[in-house]
Amino acid sequence: MTHTIAHWSDGKPFLGTSARTAPVTNPATGEITSQVALADLADARAVIGAAQSAFPAWRDTSLTRRTQIVFRFREVLNERKGELARIITAEHGKVLSDALGEVSRGQEVVEFACGMPHLLKGGMTENASTKVDVASVRQPLGPVGIISPFNFPAMVPMWFFPIAIAAGNTVVLKPSEKDPSAALWMAELWTEAGLPPGVFNVLQGDKTAVDELLENPTIKAVSFVGSTPIAQYVYATATAHGKRVQALGGAKNHMVVLPDADLDLAADAAVNAGFGSAGERCMAISALVAVGDIADELVDKIAERAASLKTGDGTKNCDMGPLVTKAHRDRVASYVDAGEAAGATIVVDGRQVAADGGPDGFWLGPTLIDDVTTDMSIYTDEIFGPVLSVVRVDTYDEALALINANPYGNGTAIFTNDGGAARRFQNEVEVGMVGINVPIPVPMAYYSFGGWKNSLFGDTHAHGTEGVHFFTRGKVVTSRWLDPSHGGIELGFPQNV
Ligand code: NAD
Repeated sequence: MTHTIAHWSDGKPFLGTSARTAPVTNPATGEITSQVALADLADARAVIGAAQSAFPAWRDTSLTRRTQIVFRFREVLNERKGELARIITAEHGKVLSDALGEVSRGQEVVEFACGMPHLLKGGMTENASTKVDVASVRQPLGPVGIISPFNFPAMVPMWFFPIAIAAGNTVVLKPSEKDPSAALWMAELWTEAGLPPGVFNVLQGDKTAVDELLENPTIKAVSFVGSTPIAQYVYATATAHGKRVQALGGAKNHMVVLPDADLDLAADAAVNAGFGSAGERCMAISALVAVGDIADELVDKIAERAASLKTGDGTKNCDMGPLVTKAHRDRVASYVDAGEAAGATIVVDGRQVAADGGPDGFWLGPTLIDDVTTDMSIYTDEIFGPVLSVVRVDTYDEALALINANPYGNGTAIFTNDGGAARRFQNEVEVGMVGINVPIPVPMAYYSFGGWKNSLFGDTHAHGTEGVHFFTRGKVVTSRWLDPSHGGIELGFPQNV
């Protein structure tokens, strides 16, 4: 018998009444390690109700006190982040160092949220009209929903909840059912940090839980991260129910290498960004655009590096772990088959990798495919695996046109030593996050994260000041006080001029 991963409601684990569960596997062994509860409507409403009950007192808790609790969360997270990294590796499969990196990037948003007193400062205009003052304040929204994907079970929720909580909202987090334990661990950590019950809740589940978050009028805003079709659905449904929504979707990130680039640097970057986390990153590079006559040399350099990577169990000091589920592994491999059948050249083949892990692990090694054309499914679709496709073009303009024609616009990078070309690229490319000789340009917590086109639905990107705006609403107060000189008694001193 495996244990059941519960919801977290009102400061404690909550099993709910639903009989439905889903298996959670260790991708490096293929073993089912637990079952996660899948909420029914009553369970979802109970968890949302806990967030609703906690909101009035949390909203009225002083900003000083709220910030102190976020500070304490940062301290305990920093002390115990190794535990969280091990939980991530056991359910997601990514190597431990990568899991630790994910936690650290999430922690940066917690640190940003520690500055909430400064971020929430309003404006004030004295004497806007005669003896009339105008002040602006920002207030929390209420209970908010966060729906996260499998690929960053700690970092993506941390893009949102530290800011939401510090700003005075209460939270219901619906993690991916593929790796649900990180959310529960973070809920316990909040309790240890002194957060009152009901301010941070976890709702485990699938579409039933998501739909209730989108439709229940108690939930005032939804932050979603996942694939584009679901992001579109979440945006359409939650906005139709009157909610504020930011829905971050999928990606197809191109890395352009110009002929003047340092090819060793570019090859290192392509390998890191293409195969890190087995390509299961929304900022992974999946299309390498080689410009001009450098393509052969660049492909050789990448192939040499890719072939040297060690694939295996994330706890065993390997470079790359397994894919998250068997179904996903098979889907990614089928794209490689389709690319081969369509005439692309398989330079490094990960389908038969000898992995350092269990025989039933969900293994697919680094795969490099050359001569990919834009009509192949390996190019048009988001594959979300360790597969790097090389598209050859003759000019910078062709490379730019390729990216701008793509329906996604999450991240992109250019490798060059030509400052003018780089500057032109940053100005002309229709993508939300751009790297110049930086393959994975994930913004720091005090900037905002988000793509363009089919990579984000809504107006607000995640974290940074955009995140603070998303989780608060503005109010402007115009006030006039009767001048004391209008009153009867006047003992001097307070002069009004
Ligand atoms: P997914 O869309 O399958 O799932 C995301 C969330 O939506 C999960 O919590 C899941 O339970 C829920 N969900 C799934 N199907 C649903 C349905 N039919 N109705 C309602 N809810 C549903 O995504 P995933 O496979 O977990 O994650 C990978 C995807 O996320 C990739 O497309 C990746 O590019 C994207 N992603 C994007 C960003 C970004 O910042 N743009 C970041 C990370 C991941």
